[in-house]
Amino acid sequence: VTAVVLVHGGAHSGRIRPEREAPIRAGLRDAAEAGRTALRAGAGPVEAAVAAVAVLEDCEHFNAGYGAALNDDGEVELDAAVMNGATRRAGGVAVLSGYANPVRIAQALLAEGRHVLLAGEGAARFAERGGFERTPHLGLVTRRRFRRWHREQPAGHDTVGAVVCDAHGRVGAATSTGGPSLKAAGRVGDSPVPGGGIFADDRSCAVSASGSGERLLEAVAAHDVAARLSYLGLRVDEAVGAVLARVEGNAGLIAVDPDGNVGIAANTLLFRRALATGDEPVRIALLADEELR
Ligand code: ASP
Repeated sequence: VTAVVLVHGGAHSGRIRPEREAPIRAGLRDAAEAGRTALRAGAGPVEAAVAAVAVLEDCEHFNAGYGAALNDDGEVELDAAVMNGATRRAGGVAVLSGYANPVRIAQALLAEGRHVLLAGEGAARFAERGGFERTPHLGLVTRRRFRRWHREQPAGHDTVGAVVCDAHGRVGAATSTGGPSLKAAGRVGDSPVPGGGIFADDRSCAVSASGSGERLLEAVAAHDVAARLSYLGLRVDEAVGAVLARVEGNAGLIAVDPDGNVGIAANTLLFRRALATGDEPVRIALLADEELR
């Protein structure tokens, strides 16, 4: 199988300011390359997806980790998860404050194997016990996010995620987000919930979603993509399209099956994404209907 790393930087209907386009492209490219580098070094698909997502968490132009959207109270509350298609085990954190790379904490939770989802203070304590370094609140907030919050401007959906198929046909996924800006404190979206905004099963595919978290959760969107492969025998590109047509809100979906076939669909103007296939140069697209190149 030709290994594939497909990343997204969120489905959203706003505009990208011209001066932000280059750094956004660079972030997407670096993320896909980080995933590929991890695979070449012998990492599994989850580790590679985490490596890709961590790059986007560190990039201020995406709504995850550093640069995440602020909630009603002006706080950063992060959701992230990982899922392994070979074991079908997941790990996720929700409503987590004070950590720049929640996806790595989700990965640690998966490794521990005791629980699937930890939220709030308990998630923070788990991170602390795991030796993750705390980032003070202001270390996560960018000027742009603060300005938007101050003007009560709801942000678009620019969650990040990655799906990976390795050379053995094993798949994995990772998703990370700050959620919609001005969300209520304590709100949990689709991103950390297996089946909602993330899913992985080597018998079908790996999926990562972006968009209206409430609608994606209700649609159990990520699992629905995989179910359509298993039950209906759809191809992965058909399955993401069929699920997208059912989600009653903004949405973008990426998926990869164990043969390395990818599916990409969004009903928003923008769906920022990058694809690394085998040793080919990374291909990028920002508009949902734009071809990767
Ligand atoms: N799906 C994310 C959430 O609702 C938001 C996004 O995709 O930007 O938390």
